[in-house]
Order: sequence, then C-alpha cells, then structure tokens
Amino acid sequence: MPFHTETLFRDDAYLSETEAKVVGVNDRGGVILDRTIFYATSGGQPGDTGHIVRADGTRLAVAATVAGETKDEIIHVPDAGQSLPAVGESVKLAIDWPRRLLLMRMHTACHLLSVVCPFPITGAAVSEDDSRVDFDIPDPSYTKELVTARLLELVNANHPIFIRWITDEDLAANPTLVKSKNVRPPSGTGRIRLVCIGDNAVIDSQPCGGTHVAATGEVGEIHIGKIEKKGRENRRFRIRFGPMPAQ
Ligand SMILES: [Zn+2]
Repeated sequence: MPFHTETLFRDDAYLSETEAKVVGVNDRGGVILDRTIFYATSGGQPGDTGHIVRADGTRLAVAATVAGETKDEIIHVPDAGQSLPAVGESVKLAIDWPRRLLLMRMHTACHLLSVVCPFPITGAAVSEDDSRVDFDIPDPSYTKELVTARLLELVNANHPIFIRWITDEDLAANPTLVKSKNVRPPSGTGRIRLVCIGDNAVIDSQPCGGTHVAATGEVGEIHIGKIEKKGRENRRFRIRFGPMPAQ
C-alpha cells in the first residue's frame, strides 16, 4: 500500500524547516516521512533537495525528491553511502531554500506567461535559472519584447496569489480553466487545487499542484530570452531572470 504523506508545501510553500517521523525506508534507500516540506518532481517543477537531521544529529543529504506509487507518497532520495534512519525515528527537515525560492519564482513566471499568451500549452519545464513553456500560437505578433513588457506589468502590479479548492464538478462546469492541451488535471479525488492570481482571481486561475510565491512582485525582473519555432504553430518561450540583454 502506498503511504499518504502529509504535504505541508501545498498549504504553505514558504515552510523551509519542520519536524517529521520516519514511516518507511524503501529497498532503494528512499526515505518516507509522515509529513514533508519537500516538493516531489511533478508538473514540470523539479523536486526539492536539502537535508534530514537524524535524532543523533547526523545530517543526511537529500539529493532528490520524487513521487512513489501515487502522487501522495513522497520519497526522499538520499545521496549514496549515508546511513539511513530507522522507522519511527523523529527527524528534522530542511530544504535548500534559496533553490526552492528560485523555482517558486520561475514557476509563478510560467503562470504569468500563460496569462500574457492565452493559447494552448503543449509542454513546460521549470529550472532555477531558465524555464520554458511551449504554446500552439498562430499569432506572430507575440514578440519577446512585447511579451516581456506584459510580463513586467503583471510583476510590477504585485497581484496576490492564493489557493482555492474546487470540486471535480466545478472543473467540469468550467473547462476553460485548463490551459494544458495534453495534460488533464487529476480528477476523481473530489477536489482540485486552483492557483489564483489577482483579487478574486481576476487575472488568472488554473489547476496546479506546484509551489508559487505569494504575490507577483516576488517573481522579480524577468524577460523572454528566446522564442524558438518548434513546429508550424508551436513556439517555445524561454523565461530568464534579470533585464533583457541589450541587442
Ligand atoms: Zn503552478
């Protein structure tokens, strides 16, 4: 039976440390905890790295975080060659917070890009210094200068970002909430996590299980680094931090 880890990052993306109990160590050395602040790789956002401090004070470096048999079973993958904790042991957790904050800013920037470019999304990937979103976009007027300017308007307006839970039925009644062309949000669990931007979600709302900053201003200065043509209508937009380099 897969374990259902309590995912603290879904309610508070800003938790960088907490305490937990070891509930299992799998045959590949992956550590399963009763609750965690480590985001598991999913939806284009990489999993967290960091460390687990054992009851005796030993630090166990966590090299990756992945989902197990289900999305709710979170596996902390330690660096090889470390002594593993025992089931029942109380431990302290700490994620690599500077890295996670960069991922939260980048991930949120991808949401803003989907607002500026309201076209079907065919793929996305987030990293600390570069992210990409692929769109089916028939309109050639979306240049990197124009898109960058509109992204910065959203950043500078410092819109709030918050979570709202809706039911499967709500989602079925509002199919335009889903912007991804190929990926359906998980349904059947009864509730869907919507990430909302702006007062009363006036700017955007879309299903997402990732981690985001609390206001668009925290994204900071970003620009479109490149737009690559991937097909007749498919375009890959790359987001980078900082000002757009001079041409
Ligand atoms: Zn998201």
